[in-house]
Amino acid sequence: MSVLLVVSGASGSGKTTLCRQLEQKGMAYYAISATTRAMRPGEVDGEDYFFLTVEDFTAKIEQGEFLEHAKVHNAYYGTLIAEVVNHLEKGRNVIIDIDVQGASQIRACEHPLVQASLVDLFVSVELEELQKRLHNRGDDVNSIALRMENAQQELAQKHLYQYELVSSSKEQDYATFEKIFLEEESKKQTK
Ligand code: 5GP
Repeated sequence: MSVLLVVSGASGSGKTTLCRQLEQKGMAYYAISATTRAMRPGEVDGEDYFFLTVEDFTAKIEQGEFLEHAKVHNAYYGTLIAEVVNHLEKGRNVIIDIDVQGASQIRACEHPLVQASLVDLFVSVELEELQKRLHNRGDDVNSIALRMENAQQELAQKHLYQYELVSSSKEQDYATFEKIFLEEESKKQTK
Protein backbone atom coordinates (compact mmCIF):
# COMPACT_ATOMS: atom_id res chain seq x y z
CA MET A 1 0.00 0.00 0.00
CA SER A 2 1.33 3.44 -0.90
CA VAL A 3 0.98 6.75 0.96
CA LEU A 4 -1.27 9.62 -0.10
CA LEU A 5 0.12 12.55 1.90
CA VAL A 6 -2.21 15.55 2.09
CA VAL A 7 -0.33 18.69 3.13
CA SER A 8 -2.05 21.93 4.17
CA GLY A 9 -0.92 25.16 5.80
CA ALA A 10 -1.01 28.87 5.13
CA SER A 11 0.50 30.11 1.89
CA GLY A 12 4.01 31.15 2.87
CA SER A 13 4.35 28.23 5.29
CA GLY A 14 6.86 26.56 2.98
CA LYS A 15 4.66 23.50 2.36
CA THR A 16 5.10 23.60 -1.43
CA THR A 17 8.91 23.55 -1.01
CA LEU A 18 8.65 20.59 1.37
CA CYS A 19 6.51 18.66 -1.12
CA ARG A 20 8.87 19.47 -4.02
CA GLN A 21 11.92 18.35 -2.00
CA LEU A 22 10.30 15.01 -1.23
CA GLU A 23 9.45 14.60 -4.92
CA GLN A 24 12.98 15.52 -6.00
CA LYS A 25 14.31 12.74 -3.79
CA GLY A 26 12.10 10.36 -5.77
CA MET A 27 10.01 9.47 -2.73
CA ALA A 28 6.59 10.45 -4.07
CA TYR A 29 4.75 11.91 -7.04
CA TYR A 30 3.67 15.51 -6.42
CA ALA A 31 0.20 15.79 -7.96
CA ILE A 32 -0.35 18.90 -10.09
CA SER A 33 -3.51 20.82 -9.21
CA ALA A 34 -5.76 22.73 -11.58
CA THR A 35 -6.47 26.40 -10.87
CA THR A 36 -8.15 29.44 -12.36
CA ARG A 37 -5.75 31.90 -10.71
CA ALA A 38 -3.34 33.93 -12.86
CA MET A 39 0.10 32.50 -13.47
CA ARG A 40 2.89 34.09 -11.38
CA PRO A 41 6.19 35.06 -13.03
CA GLY A 42 8.35 31.97 -13.42
CA GLU A 43 5.45 29.50 -13.18
CA VAL A 44 4.95 26.93 -15.93
CA ASP A 45 1.58 25.55 -17.08
CA GLY A 46 1.48 21.79 -16.48
CA GLU A 47 4.35 21.93 -13.99
CA ASP A 48 3.25 24.28 -11.21
CA TYR A 49 -0.46 24.00 -11.99
CA PHE A 50 -2.75 23.28 -14.89
CA PHE A 51 -3.91 26.86 -15.46
CA LEU A 52 -7.54 26.75 -16.63
CA THR A 53 -10.23 29.27 -17.51
CA VAL A 54 -13.28 29.35 -15.23
CA GLU A 55 -15.27 27.72 -18.08
CA ASP A 56 -12.81 24.83 -18.45
CA PHE A 57 -12.62 24.36 -14.68
CA THR A 58 -16.43 24.27 -14.37
CA ALA A 59 -16.65 21.76 -17.22
CA LYS A 60 -14.24 19.47 -15.38
CA ILE A 61 -16.35 19.74 -12.20
CA GLU A 62 -19.42 18.72 -14.22
CA GLN A 63 -17.55 15.81 -15.81
CA GLY A 64 -16.61 14.55 -12.33
CA GLU A 65 -12.86 14.88 -12.94
CA PHE A 66 -12.00 16.25 -9.48
CA LEU A 67 -11.28 14.37 -6.28
CA GLU A 68 -11.91 17.69 -4.51
CA HIS A 69 -12.18 21.33 -5.46
CA ALA A 70 -12.56 24.59 -3.56
CA LYS A 71 -12.50 28.34 -3.91
CA VAL A 72 -9.37 29.75 -2.24
CA HIS A 73 -8.30 33.44 -2.33
CA ASN A 74 -10.98 34.19 -4.99
CA ALA A 75 -9.88 31.49 -7.44
CA TYR A 76 -10.80 27.85 -7.96
CA TYR A 77 -8.34 25.10 -7.14
CA GLY A 78 -8.85 21.38 -7.55
CA THR A 79 -7.14 17.98 -7.44
CA LEU A 80 -7.74 15.85 -10.52
CA ILE A 81 -8.65 12.21 -9.83
CA ALA A 82 -6.23 11.11 -12.56
CA GLU A 83 -3.33 12.92 -10.86
CA VAL A 84 -3.83 10.90 -7.67
CA VAL A 85 -5.62 7.60 -8.22
CA ASN A 86 -3.70 6.54 -11.36
CA HIS A 87 -0.43 6.82 -9.43
CA LEU A 88 -1.71 5.11 -6.25
CA GLU A 89 -2.94 2.24 -8.42
CA LYS A 90 0.59 1.81 -9.75
CA GLY A 91 1.89 1.58 -6.18
CA ARG A 92 3.44 5.08 -6.14
CA ASN A 93 3.29 7.44 -3.19
CA VAL A 94 1.50 10.71 -3.94
CA ILE A 95 1.67 14.12 -2.18
CA ILE A 96 -0.97 16.81 -2.58
CA ASP A 97 -0.70 20.38 -1.37
CA ILE A 98 -4.25 21.63 -0.79
CA ASP A 99 -6.23 23.95 1.48
CA VAL A 100 -8.28 22.90 4.53
CA GLN A 101 -11.56 22.70 2.56
CA GLY A 102 -9.96 20.33 0.06
CA ALA A 103 -8.46 18.22 2.85
CA SER A 104 -11.85 17.72 4.49
CA GLN A 105 -13.32 16.64 1.13
CA ILE A 106 -10.51 14.09 0.75
CA ARG A 107 -11.14 12.75 4.28
CA ALA A 108 -14.80 12.28 3.34
CA CYS A 109 -13.98 10.68 -0.01
CA GLU A 110 -15.16 7.08 -0.25
CA HIS A 111 -12.61 5.85 -2.75
CA PRO A 112 -11.11 2.79 -0.97
CA LEU A 113 -7.56 3.34 -2.23
CA VAL A 114 -7.66 7.01 -1.19
CA GLN A 115 -8.96 6.08 2.28
CA ALA A 116 -6.42 3.31 2.83
CA SER A 117 -3.42 5.41 1.83
CA LEU A 118 -4.42 8.74 3.39
CA VAL A 119 -2.13 10.61 5.81
CA ASP A 120 -2.62 14.33 6.52
CA LEU A 121 -0.24 16.96 7.85
CA PHE A 122 -0.64 20.65 8.65
CA VAL A 123 2.34 23.03 8.45
CA SER A 124 1.81 25.85 10.94
CA VAL A 125 3.70 29.13 11.20
CA GLU A 126 3.43 31.89 13.74
CA LEU A 127 1.33 34.72 12.20
CA GLU A 128 3.96 37.43 12.59
CA GLU A 129 6.57 35.23 10.88
CA LEU A 130 4.09 34.40 8.12
CA GLN A 131 3.46 38.08 7.36
CA LYS A 132 7.22 38.62 7.08
CA ARG A 133 7.60 35.70 4.67
CA LEU A 134 4.75 36.88 2.39
CA HIS A 135 6.24 40.37 2.31
CA ASN A 136 9.72 39.02 1.52
CA ARG A 137 8.47 36.93 -1.37
CA GLY A 138 7.00 40.09 -2.92
CA ASP A 139 3.23 39.59 -2.48
CA ASP A 140 1.32 42.90 -2.72
CA VAL A 141 -0.44 44.47 0.29
CA ASN A 142 -3.95 43.30 -0.67
CA SER A 143 -2.81 39.80 -1.38
CA ILE A 144 -0.96 39.68 1.97
CA ALA A 145 -4.07 40.87 3.83
CA LEU A 146 -6.25 38.23 2.16
CA ARG A 147 -3.72 35.46 2.76
CA MET A 148 -3.29 36.45 6.44
CA GLU A 149 -7.05 36.34 6.97
CA ASN A 150 -7.16 32.92 5.31
CA ALA A 151 -4.19 31.75 7.38
CA GLN A 152 -6.09 32.44 10.59
CA GLN A 153 -9.09 30.47 9.36
CA GLU A 154 -6.86 27.60 8.24
CA LEU A 155 -5.00 27.49 11.59
CA ALA A 156 -8.34 26.96 13.33
CA GLN A 157 -8.58 23.59 11.57
CA LYS A 158 -5.11 22.23 12.26
CA HIS A 159 -6.50 19.87 14.94
CA LEU A 160 -8.25 17.88 12.20
CA TYR A 161 -4.88 16.68 10.85
CA GLN A 162 -2.95 13.64 12.04
CA TYR A 163 0.29 15.65 12.17
CA GLU A 164 1.20 19.28 12.85
CA LEU A 165 4.62 20.43 11.71
CA VAL A 166 5.51 23.69 13.45
CA SER A 167 7.75 25.55 11.00
CA SER A 168 11.19 26.69 12.18
CA SER A 169 14.09 26.61 9.70
CA LYS A 170 13.86 25.16 6.16
CA GLU A 171 16.37 22.42 7.03
CA GLN A 172 14.66 21.42 10.27
CA ASP A 173 11.21 21.48 8.62
CA TYR A 174 12.34 19.17 5.82
CA ALA A 175 14.05 16.76 8.23
CA THR A 176 10.83 16.45 10.27
CA PHE A 177 8.68 16.18 7.15
CA GLU A 178 10.77 13.37 5.65
CA LYS A 179 10.88 11.49 8.98
CA ILE A 180 7.07 11.53 9.25
CA PHE A 181 6.73 10.47 5.62
CA LEU A 182 9.14 7.54 6.02
CA GLU A 183 7.43 6.34 9.21
CA GLU A 184 4.04 6.41 7.52
CA GLU A 185 5.43 4.71 4.42
CA SER A 186 6.76 1.81 6.47
CA LYS A 187 3.43 1.50 8.33
CA LYS A 188 1.51 1.33 5.02
CA GLN A 189 3.96 -1.18 3.58
CA THR A 190 3.13 -3.65 6.30
CA LYS A 191 -0.59 -3.40 5.47
P1 5GP B 1 -1.10 29.45 -4.37
O1 5GP B 1 -2.04 30.27 -5.19
O2 5GP B 1 -0.31 30.29 -3.41
O3 5GP B 1 -0.25 28.52 -5.21
O4 5GP B 1 -2.01 28.48 -3.48
C1 5GP B 1 -3.00 29.02 -2.68
C2 5GP B 1 -3.66 27.94 -1.84
O5 5GP B 1 -4.38 27.01 -2.65
C3 5GP B 1 -2.70 27.10 -1.02
O6 5GP B 1 -3.19 27.03 0.32
C4 5GP B 1 -2.76 25.74 -1.66
O7 5GP B 1 -2.54 24.71 -0.72
C5 5GP B 1 -4.16 25.71 -2.17
N1 5GP B 1 -4.30 24.73 -3.25
C6 5GP B 1 -3.42 24.45 -4.25
N2 5GP B 1 -3.88 23.47 -5.02
C7 5GP B 1 -5.07 23.10 -4.49
C8 5GP B 1 -6.03 22.11 -4.85
O8 5GP B 1 -5.89 21.35 -5.79
N3 5GP B 1 -7.14 22.05 -4.07
C9 5GP B 1 -7.36 22.86 -3.00
N4 5GP B 1 -8.48 22.68 -2.30
N5 5GP B 1 -6.47 23.79 -2.64
C10 5GP B 1 -5.35 23.91 -3.37
